[in-house]
Amino acid sequence: MKLIKKISILMLLLTVFSCSEKENNHALLVIDMQNDFCDIDGASLPVKGGTSVISYINKLINSGKYGKVVFSQDWHPINHISFASNNGKNVYETITLEDGTQQTMWPNHCVPNTFGAEFHKDMDTSKTDYVVKKGTNPKVDSYSAFWDNNAESKTDLDDYLKKNDIKEVTIVGLALDYCVRFTCEDAVKLGYKVNLHLKGTKAVNIKPTDAETTIKALKKIGVNIIEYKKIGVNIIE
Ligand SMILES: [Zn+2]
Repeated sequence: MKLIKKISILMLLLTVFSCSEKENNHALLVIDMQNDFCDIDGASLPVKGGTSVISYINKLINSGKYGKVVFSQDWHPINHISFASNNGKNVYETITLEDGTQQTMWPNHCVPNTFGAEFHKDMDTSKTDYVVKKGTNPKVDSYSAFWDNNAESKTDLDDYLKKNDIKEVTIVGLALDYCVRFTCEDAVKLGYKVNLHLKGTKAVNIKPTDAETTIKALKKIGVNIIEYKKIGVNIIE
């Protein structure tokens, strides 16, 4: 084979397998990749397989495709309403709050300045453009990175994305059936085109069917679900 032909084949392969072209209107939202949600020693609310999604998310971060890379962090004061310990309840029980909201009871998690609140050490945070903290109000939980669960107070994420002319978001992180789901739903409501990589998320599955129910609900509202089988070894969609 002539050298020039070899070079053109090499160039073609490089184009196919190398970093995607940067899409300035497209942000990657990495939800709550914190120690407490990863299946590691010392985690208070480990999601089964939570740690296994880190390398895939790192590939997305380093793909060069996203105009902005945003992380969310669950960030609860120690007297937070969602902690079973603050309500004399059992973990995973559901209670009705004074305002009528249903609240799942969780173990204490993601308390600022604790190991559990930190990002997992293997998460590549070196290309982070923005970090949004959520659930900071002790009286209300906030699964979504955009709004609290009462839809009364907004984080500054939407303003940040709009200010940067972001029209499309790709969402990954933990956990599929809670914070990822609510973030996807709010992103749709706020007018973004929304993609969800199933390879970059895992569910809590308090009920074993929760992941499936979540995926169906998100498809119904127009979220583009990117399933494993569509993803080639070296190609990131
Ligand atoms: Zn929380």
